[in-house]
Amino acid sequence: MTKELTVLFVTPEAVPFAKTGGLADVAGTLPLALQRQGLKLQVIMPLYGMIKQGEHSLSLVAENLKANLGPNLLEFNLFKATSGGVPFYFVERDEFYERSQLYGTSRGDYFDNLERYTFLARSLLPICLALDLKPDIVHCHDWQSALVPVYMKTDWSWLAPMADSASVFTIHNLAYQGLFDRAKFPLLGLDWSLFSIDGLEYYDSINLLKGGIMFADTITTVSRQYSREIQTPEFGYGLEGVLQSRAAVLTGIVNGVDYSNWDPATDPLLVANYHPQSLAGKAKNKQALMEKYGLASKLAAAPLLGMISRLADQKGFDLVASVLPKLLAQDVTLVILGTGEEKYHQLLTQEAQKYPGKLGVKIAYDNTLAHLIEAGADLFLMPSRYEPCGLNQIYSMKYGTIPVVRATGGLVDTVEPVDLAKGTGTGFQFEEYSPEAFLAALQAAISAYQNKSLWSKLMQNAMAQDFSWETSARAYLELYHQTLKRKTTEIRRAL
Ligand code: ADP
Repeated sequence: MTKELTVLFVTPEAVPFAKTGGLADVAGTLPLALQRQGLKLQVIMPLYGMIKQGEHSLSLVAENLKANLGPNLLEFNLFKATSGGVPFYFVERDEFYERSQLYGTSRGDYFDNLERYTFLARSLLPICLALDLKPDIVHCHDWQSALVPVYMKTDWSWLAPMADSASVFTIHNLAYQGLFDRAKFPLLGLDWSLFSIDGLEYYDSINLLKGGIMFADTITTVSRQYSREIQTPEFGYGLEGVLQSRAAVLTGIVNGVDYSNWDPATDPLLVANYHPQSLAGKAKNKQALMEKYGLASKLAAAPLLGMISRLADQKGFDLVASVLPKLLAQDVTLVILGTGEEKYHQLLTQEAQKYPGKLGVKIAYDNTLAHLIEAGADLFLMPSRYEPCGLNQIYSMKYGTIPVVRATGGLVDTVEPVDLAKGTGTGFQFEEYSPEAFLAALQAAISAYQNKSLWSKLMQNAMAQDFSWETSARAYLELYHQTLKRKTTEIRRAL
């Protein structure tokens, strides 16, 4: 029998505690699926203000632990809560984490993000010592925890809790790299020799993500297609060369979803539940959604399009704005829920004023409304410039809401293009990032919607998709074993 692996997740966000995007869904639900595979899981993340104020039952497990930040030794406390039987540990240092948001406001990033996430990485060793943890695998996520693989290969490589541990680093979005002024390098407590082309230096700045890529034993991304794309100049954000150099240990595992939160048959946040054999409830959600957004009730039979998204350049809102005149000249309604960059707040608010009764915009982060949109809309739009995996298209399919997506990243891996003649497929795709290509896909979807028997076939195809975590969790399990095997061979060779 193989040994039960111990895996430590280090993440800046995880549901149900703190979330800005898909990373939180993954970091909060993959550990539960891995635990079902027989692994022992622990998760470490910051204790943000919103977690303290939330309704989680937190208990203090260690006080006055100390971690380095540059030359200083700073204290922190450690709290614990459980989710689905998995222990989540929270690093409490209010100076860094007691904020209204996670990384910054709509005006920009917090000025001390380097300090905040260096401290998170540095807290790992004292936590392992305090809790007597000896993880086989430390699985880190995005630039905020990218220093952990660096410390594991440098300062911690001979220290008992970590000496035999291997690191896995998952890139959820390559565009966010954690870039900081070189003047702050001493805060990391690393030798200046690591501020180099083979280390964390990137055009004379500190690049934390690059550090994770260079030092992790294994690198993963959240879909196969994205793992290929990021090795090209179009999607590599300047790191394509670095990623190519590590291609041997880079792989893509598509995200799963937690259907216990996202299933129209049981979702408590809906106006009415429904399932593939009984779809009547979907219409009730549509009606409630239209009312909530003040859309014209005379358009109840017309297709209702939905979008839920961070308002960022990545997500294709420039394409949405460009197609609105032609799209909304037809019998179609559109609801958008999102928050993010100020320029998109303004753009969307202005557009909504131009199309009363047809376009509804809510600038907010609202989980309940997100569920209602998934259930109430007929079509779900994701015209992303790039999309590492994307979760909303997966949720949409489960809710019988047909996605219209750009053929990029995880959208390629998860949405099967519709074949109108055969009635196969689960969504509409377009290739070129242009308003014309997007509009053509929308037109195809809108006309398919008029064909009721075809449409119900497509809904059934979509609702039958299964992206539950089990398959992906097994792939991670296999990868953890491979990583450990490789690490052991490397250590033996070095002796
Ligand atoms: P990303 O991680 O790039 O933001 P994903 O599609 O992978 O995109 O995941 C987005 C997640 O965040 C989904 O669970 C989605 O429902 C949620 N989400 C995004 N914006 C909002 C919002 N304004 N209100 C509620 N949920 C949101």
